[in-house]
Amino acid sequence: MSVVATVAGVEVSPDHFIGGERVASAERFADVSPIDESRLADIARGGQEEADAAVEAAREAFPAWAALGPEGRAGHLSRVADLIEERQETLAEVETLDNGSLLEASRMRLMKRAALNFRFFARLALDLERRAWESNGTAYHVRRDPSGVAVLITPWNAPLLLETWKCGPALAAGCTAVLKPAEWSPLTASLLAEIARDAGLPRGVLNVVQGFGEEVGAALVAHPGVARISFTGSVETAQQIARAAAGNLTPVSFELGGKSPFMVFADADLDRAVETATYQYDNAGQVCLAGTRLLVEEAIAEEFSERFLAGVAERRLGDPRDPDTDIGPLIAREHLARVEGFVERAERDGARLVIGGRVSPELGGLYYEPTLFTDVRQELEIVQKEVFGPVLTLQTFADEDEAVRLANDTEYGLAATVFTEDEERAERLGEALVAGTTWINCFYARDLGAPFGGAKRSGIGREGGEWSFDFYADVKTVARKVA
Ligand code: NAD
Repeated sequence: MSVVATVAGVEVSPDHFIGGERVASAERFADVSPIDESRLADIARGGQEEADAAVEAAREAFPAWAALGPEGRAGHLSRVADLIEERQETLAEVETLDNGSLLEASRMRLMKRAALNFRFFARLALDLERRAWESNGTAYHVRRDPSGVAVLITPWNAPLLLETWKCGPALAAGCTAVLKPAEWSPLTASLLAEIARDAGLPRGVLNVVQGFGEEVGAALVAHPGVARISFTGSVETAQQIARAAAGNLTPVSFELGGKSPFMVFADADLDRAVETATYQYDNAGQVCLAGTRLLVEEAIAEEFSERFLAGVAERRLGDPRDPDTDIGPLIAREHLARVEGFVERAERDGARLVIGGRVSPELGGLYYEPTLFTDVRQELEIVQKEVFGPVLTLQTFADEDEAVRLANDTEYGLAATVFTEDEERAERLGEALVAGTTWINCFYARDLGAPFGGAKRSGIGREGGEWSFDFYADVKTVARKVA
């Protein structure tokens, strides 16, 4: 039976969206708000059948969508962007209830960016450089032809932002898509499906299937009718997806976890460095790019620590709908237990707990205090593994060589942040740090035209700008004899 949930006063379908129709499943699962653990909706629990139907719908829609060309698609996609902008208030409210991210940030930044993810890539598809040259009497030109059905699988920490970051370029490139949002935050994907319908996107161009990763997710990534898999999530899930995709040799793009260094040199603008360091607890630390390893030059370590702790003490933990709140809840009980496990093991390993390390005694629930460990050895789990919660470590370094060695010494390579006023040092670190993105004297600057992804275990491939089109399209050389 198809039902509609009312969330933040907004009607949200908990069902799949396949071939332009709402489709229910025999079973449902509870979607719970991290704010107070109240039940928001009973979501359709998809499996093999729904995965097959969604891929089939996307395959049927593909030839006509591909044939529209970038110009034909741009009109559709900019209408989607318009509707996201028109509905950004309700999208933000639903998303905050669903995943606990700050309402203000959602409203002011995330939803705007979600719209831009459609507008930017639709526009870029029109302007893509068409490479052409002649050599030995042959004219070459390079085409990017739509590849087919893209399966897009996303995590819960920034749902609509990450979903549109995949849907925008995939659809602009001429693929049709099957989106599977995370089971802990499925609601705004359903609202995106509504927007696709209201924007007049042809049936089957964007399909949304709900359910668990190991059920409908696993069925989608093993499907032989799929041309591309773009996945954002954990390393462990990526390994499972890679195994499933191997059977069909389906190309994958992986954006995975991180344990990024946040480096502060003695010559840094300390005000900016300290303030930016305190932001690493944003979204309760559930940010892949967060600089969770503070690396501070010995000469300023004491001053930095004092000012950092004073700054963190001012960050307010609370209900993410309250405009005075800086840090909201963790996503779910299961995730809280995971974070607690890391903290307990770090203490057992001899790391010194300076602040936090517990659920807020006043708020209870899923509200975990910002946590900092010092006296950590490089090989400890708390330094090496991604916690994905409000837990940072602080280490000191004597000189630039040691800073680089510590920064690069994990299995991840997603991002690195550096604060220094020395331009030559900045240049050297830009080269020496192994990271998909290195920020110098800034954090989280992410132009959609820049390549984005991770080195080492933080990912495979790059998306953003024309790199997205290289992934979602079949890149083809056409060579024609001219002399
Ligand atoms: P996760 O890997 O548990 O789940 C991500 C998605 O994969 C979910 O939709 C889940 O249902 C699905 N999934 C799970 N098992 C699957 C399977 N066998 N086959 C297909 N799909 C499956 O990750 P999470 O806990 O939702 O997210 C946290 C992780 O995501 C962290 O490691 C974080 O760093 C990473 N992340 C990375 C980026 C980035 O851009 N690099 C951005 C955000 C989050």
